[in-house]
Amino acid sequence: MNNWQTEYKNAIKNVSELEAFLGLQLPQLDYPIFLPRNFLLKIKNAGVNSPLYKQFIPDINESIQSGLVDPIGDQRFLVTKNLIHRYRNRALFIPTTNCPVICRYCFRKNELNNPDVFGNDLASTIDYLTHHPEINELIFTGGDPFILSDEKLYQYSSQFSKIKSIKFLRFHTRTPIILPERIDNDFLMTMKKIKEIFTQVNIMIHVNHVDEIDLKVEESLSKLKTIGVNIFSQTVLLKGVNDKNSSLINLFSKLGEIGIIPYYLHHPDSAMGTKHFQLKLEEGRKIYRSLQNDLPGWLIPKYIYDIPKGEGKISAFNPESDHFGGTLISMSGTEIKIEEEIK
Ligand SMILES: *Cc1c(COP(=O)(O)O)cnc(C)c1O
Ligand code: SF4
Repeated sequence: MNNWQTEYKNAIKNVSELEAFLGLQLPQLDYPIFLPRNFLLKIKNAGVNSPLYKQFIPDINESIQSGLVDPIGDQRFLVTKNLIHRYRNRALFIPTTNCPVICRYCFRKNELNNPDVFGNDLASTIDYLTHHPEINELIFTGGDPFILSDEKLYQYSSQFSKIKSIKFLRFHTRTPIILPERIDNDFLMTMKKIKEIFTQVNIMIHVNHVDEIDLKVEESLSKLKTIGVNIFSQTVLLKGVNDKNSSLINLFSKLGEIGIIPYYLHHPDSAMGTKHFQLKLEEGRKIYRSLQNDLPGWLIPKYIYDIPKGEGKISAFNPESDHFGGTLISMSGTEIKIEEEIK
């Protein structure tokens, strides 16, 4: 077993182990727990009120019964057991529902580790992609695709590379932040091989706070750069974690120093069990507007919101007004009334 696999396997997976590690009492919730020990030590050192702690340690507010089980309508656009096709030219491939960590605000928190939600049917997925040549970009998501073994990552990629219409490959991942050990030499070699068989390979790193980037993480991100692929970031705007102008400026500046381009700032989805992370669109717009004075355009991500139930991503910023009137226009031009509590 590689170093990272041992660290992954020894992760803390239940509340009593977690209580013992932190020396604290925690609520017993229905949602799973998954925290690698090295990362957990970082959380422990950061302390109870830290942005790290709030993102990853169970909170009694998760039991509030409000929000949607499938907030962005994944199931509506599921075309095979592990392929989501919502936008014409690109599709999401879900090779695993496991992650290197469980984030308490996760938009798929009701779907993770649930074999009934996404399954494995590679033959149908390849068949679908072959018969839909309009799809030119395949996005590995999950779960987290970098939790797959090097062999599996290469196997999937090489099979997809045989479909002529797929030119772009993308990976959505939080692994380099949570489990920097994963970015080892074998992984880098595998990714270099994958890069060779596609026109472009892009990696989107999910990172929410500058405190997530310590020296080890910075090293792992620098190693990723040696693959020669484009690296972007995605950040979720979360109440109590990074909903301050200074938090975001520090994060995006740091990413700029490492050579990672901020791609999306997500307004949080209304997933069941994440109400305590939600903020109003009006608040998000104020914070976003204030970034421009301190950041160049290339370090300001697009602020977006995924209209509930699968209507798609839209710009969350409105240059005409911070106030949100309650209606958003979807990709197809339909006006959609928003019932979720972002008003
Ligand atoms: C978010 C998402 C994508 C990727 O969209 P980009 O705007 O290209 O980042 C693709 N498919 C689905 C179903 C998505 O939810
Ligand atoms: S890494 Fe992503 S998919 Fe996994 S728990 Fe966190 S937000 Fe959810």
